[in-house]
Amino acid sequence: MITKAPHKGSLKLAIASGKGGTGKTTVAVNLFHFLSKNYSLKTQLIDCDVEEPNDLLFIHDFELESEDIATQLIPVIDNDKCTYCRKCVNYCEFNAIVVIPPVSFAEVNPSLCHSCGACLVACEDGAISEHPTEIGRIRSYKNGQGGILTEGRLKIGSAMQTMLIKDTKQHAREDMDVIIFDAPPGTSCPVVETVADADYVILVTEPTPFGLYDLKLTIEMLREIQQPFGVIINKAGIGDQKVHAFLAKQKIELLGEIPYSKTYASNYAAGDILNKISFDTETQYKAIISKLMARYT
Ligand code: SF4
Ligand code: SF4
Repeated sequence: MITKAPHKGSLKLAIASGKGGTGKTTVAVNLFHFLSKNYSLKTQLIDCDVEEPNDLLFIHDFELESEDIATQLIPVIDNDKCTYCRKCVNYCEFNAIVVIPPVSFAEVNPSLCHSCGACLVACEDGAISEHPTEIGRIRSYKNGQGGILTEGRLKIGSAMQTMLIKDTKQHAREDMDVIIFDAPPGTSCPVVETVADADYVILVTEPTPFGLYDLKLTIEMLREIQQPFGVIINKAGIGDQKVHAFLAKQKIELLGEIPYSKTYASNYAAGDILNKISFDTETQYKAIISKLMARYT
């Protein structure tokens, strides 16, 4: 049994998948559960799927420890000072500013603004100032065994996923043995932000043509940013063997296979994936963790 810290500092693992519905959350929650309860490692799970964080739904013995409001600086235009010259419009690469001189209209659209500050540099009339605006909440929960769950939750209407993920990741604790980042699905900027500084990325896929297609896209992205990775096949037993053949041909590490279970969907719907885990599945998770820890111990 592994009971000591596996890494100098915290070992950072990111869990990602090219598409939703592959079981990424399930894998993240189970790894967190087994690492903290069976291996006695101080583990923090950080839910970076800020548009729809749901790791907490499956972890029942946690209490709220802290809540922070994440903000971004949004420019505001003072109409008394504005000369409607439109320099700020030309500087803004995100089309976040509308200035209509004939009707003396000047406004920033907060949902498009990326807080780059270029418009402040552009405006020579001192008409622009920045004001903090909420983009979401970051909550941390703890249990009695030293486990921490942190989630970022984007404010409805905000498009600042990547910025909130960055802020949420800053809540990683230095005294943890292992930190797990649960990434949003896909291969876009929020996923890159989540996995970029991980020591190792675990890709979750399913053995179907859709699973393989999205897996290839995610692998392309990880190779681009030069992140080490391995693959877990979830729902093993359905579909075909093409994912296995692809991994073998590409010499990509297969960390383990979580067997498909008919009763899993109802347990998932009831938020009860940890208590009703099958023996086969538990054995697989323990084997996966042993493999991971062998790399970093
Ligand atoms: S801060 Fe940047 S993104 Fe936002 S309005 Fe100004 S120039 Fe545009
Ligand atoms: S650059 Fe300044 S003065 Fe010109 S339109 Fe923008 S806010 Fe108004």
